[in-house]
Formats: sequence, structure tokens, C-alpha cells
Amino acid sequence: MRRQYRVSKLMRSQTMLSAAKAQIAAGRKVILTYGVREDGRCSCKREGCASPGKHPLPKFFPNGVHSATDDIEAVQKALRRHPDANLAIALEGLTVVDVDGDEGRKAVKRLDLPDTVKVFTGRGYHLYYEGEISDVRSRVKNSTF
Ligand SMILES: [Zn+2]
Repeated sequence: MRRQYRVSKLMRSQTMLSAAKAQIAAGRKVILTYGVREDGRCSCKREGCASPGKHPLPKFFPNGVHSATDDIEAVQKALRRHPDANLAIALEGLTVVDVDGDEGRKAVKRLDLPDTVKVFTGRGYHLYYEGEISDVRSRVKNSTF
């Protein structure tokens, strides 16, 4: 099993630029997505947006994660235009376990994965690990769920 993913205080900064700088300093590439307005709607302003606050700014990141960058000036430029943007990181070199619902929680508990960063989601949480996915994949295959 790979080691836990470490998150610094700066990575958790509510200031997107500081958080982006910290992620880039840790070797990550980042993208910015549309933000979520106070009324809960996506800042893309598309009626019925299916992915509020989660899809990339197309002008700056036209190929989504494939446009991820470690160029902080490009991030600053995008943030000047979209100050309410959300920050996302490219997952290259990381493994993220997506745990949904009670079934998922029970199944992951049986895997006895090492403690790591846990990010809560609508239905469960994500576990972040440094390293390739093969280690986790083989453990999931060999589990009993
Ligand atoms: Zn949207």
C-alpha cells in the first residue's frame, strides 16, 4: 500500500491562489473549474448545469485535466477573470478511493487501508494516497465484496 497523501495548511487555504501555489509546490498540476453561486447554481450560468462547480473553465482549460498546469501565472490569469472559481488537482501519481454509501463504507473498512486524507462528498468520501492505482486495485479485487 502506498503512503498517505499529505495536505499542508496552505493547500486547504480558502484563497484559491494560495491553495494552487501549495499544490504546485507539492508537484501537482491544477485546473480551475466554474464556481458555485450563492444561490447554489453553477457560475457557468447554463440553465440546468449537470455538474455545478465541477467542470473546467473552457477558455483556460479547454481539454479539462489534460490542460492541467503548474504555471501559476496561468492560474492567476484565470482567477482574475473568474474569482469564484474552484480549484481541482490532476490525479496523476495519486490513487483516490471513492467511497459511496453504507455499502461502500463497509467494503472499504474490510480493506483495512492506511489512514490518509479523507474528503467528504455528497454520498460518502474520497481517500487520497500517493502512488499508482495498482496496489489499491489488487486489494479491492481480493476483498470479499
Ligand atoms: Zn456549470
